[in-house]
Amino acid sequence: MSGKVPYEETHLYRLRHSLAHVMAQAVLEMFPTGKIAIGPPIQDGFYYDFDLPRPLTPEDLKAIEKRMRNIIKKKHKFHRRELSAEEARQLFADQPYKLELIDGLEAGGVDEYGEPTDEPPVISTYKHDTFEDLCKGPHVDNLGEIHPKAFKLLKVAGAYWRGDEKRQQLQRIYGTAWETPEELEEYLHRLAEAEKRDHRRLGKELDLFSTEPDMLGGGLVLWHPKGGLMRHLAEEFCKNEHLAHGYDLVYTPHIGKSTLWETSGHLDFYRDSMYAPLDIDGQEYFLKPMNCPFHILMYKSSLRSYRDLPLRFAEWGTVYRYERSGVLHGLLRVRGFTQDDAHHFVQPEKMPQEIDFVLNFCLHILRSFGFTDFQAYLSTRPKEGKAVGDLQQWADAERALEDALKRANLPYDIDPGGGAFYGPKIDIKIKDALGREWQLSTIQFDFNLPERFDMTYIGEDGQPHRPYMVHRALLGSMERFFGVLIEHYGGAFPVWLSPVQVVLIPIADRHVPYCRQVAERLKAAGLRVEVDDGSERMGNKIRLAQKQKIPYMLVVGDKEQAASQVAVRLRSGEDLGPRDVAEVEQMILDAVASKQ
Ligand SMILES: [Zn+2]
Ligand SMILES: [Zn+2]
Repeated sequence: MSGKVPYEETHLYRLRHSLAHVMAQAVLEMFPTGKIAIGPPIQDGFYYDFDLPRPLTPEDLKAIEKRMRNIIKKKHKFHRRELSAEEARQLFADQPYKLELIDGLEAGGVDEYGEPTDEPPVISTYKHDTFEDLCKGPHVDNLGEIHPKAFKLLKVAGAYWRGDEKRQQLQRIYGTAWETPEELEEYLHRLAEAEKRDHRRLGKELDLFSTEPDMLGGGLVLWHPKGGLMRHLAEEFCKNEHLAHGYDLVYTPHIGKSTLWETSGHLDFYRDSMYAPLDIDGQEYFLKPMNCPFHILMYKSSLRSYRDLPLRFAEWGTVYRYERSGVLHGLLRVRGFTQDDAHHFVQPEKMPQEIDFVLNFCLHILRSFGFTDFQAYLSTRPKEGKAVGDLQQWADAERALEDALKRANLPYDIDPGGGAFYGPKIDIKIKDALGREWQLSTIQFDFNLPERFDMTYIGEDGQPHRPYMVHRALLGSMERFFGVLIEHYGGAFPVWLSPVQVVLIPIADRHVPYCRQVAERLKAAGLRVEVDDGSERMGNKIRLAQKQKIPYMLVVGDKEQAASQVAVRLRSGEDLGPRDVAEVEQMILDAVASKQ
């Protein structure tokens, strides 16, 4: 376990929270009739939502920033006070959004951002200078703690009041803030890098996928030929690895009767994420949000003996889950996606070996895609009353998970009480090329479904026993994984995954036949090859291939043709010079085989 301080307790958090107030003050100075909504700190910065008489421009942001600097320089202190709902209503009499939040605070159960909370309803404000805001803190002691050159306003985006599309659209100003100007510079650099790698932008530039919110619907992905080919290559590799490691590949339907989802409990605890049912012959059918119940029915389709176990059913199963339209984001948050899902059914006493196996298999798969930096999180039993299964089962399962993490030498944190009500789990996050963490893999125990479906196997004693069940997804969803992969590589994928691996570039038309000949040879060796016989000049052709992130550009002029060679250029810009075709072919095949 690491002793990381929670973000909410850091100085950076207080600093960003304080700047949200300062920004609101500056905006109200510029727009005295403006209405203010909420302004929390977020990762790397803060935002505030405003209802203003006109749309903000980039010049406005500069002006707001300048006002903020002037406010900070006066080093005002923050003062907290508690008030009654009535006093608060008087204070915010001309701020309708605050009045709605005060109603919520008075009724209890929500905080000053309108988010659910268990904390007792206290109405408090923080005041600095002339600006007083509904807030529970924390803030810096005084604004002198904030370096006036260590923050920046980044952009304005539309945001619905309370995230509800049916309510007012507000203007959200995003800012970032750091302890020092140097940290701000570094962050802005990382941000620019991340923008260059944005998977939505690269998805368009490289023609990999698209979404069509207006015609098709939000959160639904069209995989274009090149993206589809990459997905096929990734799935083909993974499926073969699954078969080689004792998994069975199965297929199940997209819909199932309400009886199934009642038995599994999804209609109780997962209904909010499921879509409205279809009516088929007077019966309700639901689109599947998960594949588990189908795999359980498959398990139960015949009598199982301990000799059959472990059973590992794997499926690239496409599931549909409701997400609010406001949170949909490219490939990362979608409504329909395909999980590389599997369920393990195990004798309880064989469970530790099974966890070792699945964890190592997981790392093997992630490493095959070039990820090497992992961080695991072990989530344990929720508090009394919120968990199914007996204490001994939980203790055994948690120990098996933790021991497996230790044996695999994985760094891990424990999230006490963070497990689902049906079992403890391991989540694995990978770090990408920019150091960002992405959660991909989950290995999750389940004490609930085997009970609900009355699953059994016949043990060595001839008696029926309950198997243990583990859900796991390694890449997570193919959509999300693909988004992460695009951003990690900035579109310059490993050779084995590149949709086009080689492009032949003839310098003049007379070199085209020779280029075609070399292309045929490389295709016969199993490579994906194109010949750029267009009318562009060579320099443009190279630039185009570089933009398409094609790993190998083979340029042919008179000299190369006469010597049966090609001049090799890499997408990095590196020039390897003329080489024999056989040598080049071997070099590329080696790169494919090693998955580099
Ligand atoms: Zn505050
Ligand atoms: Zn499952």
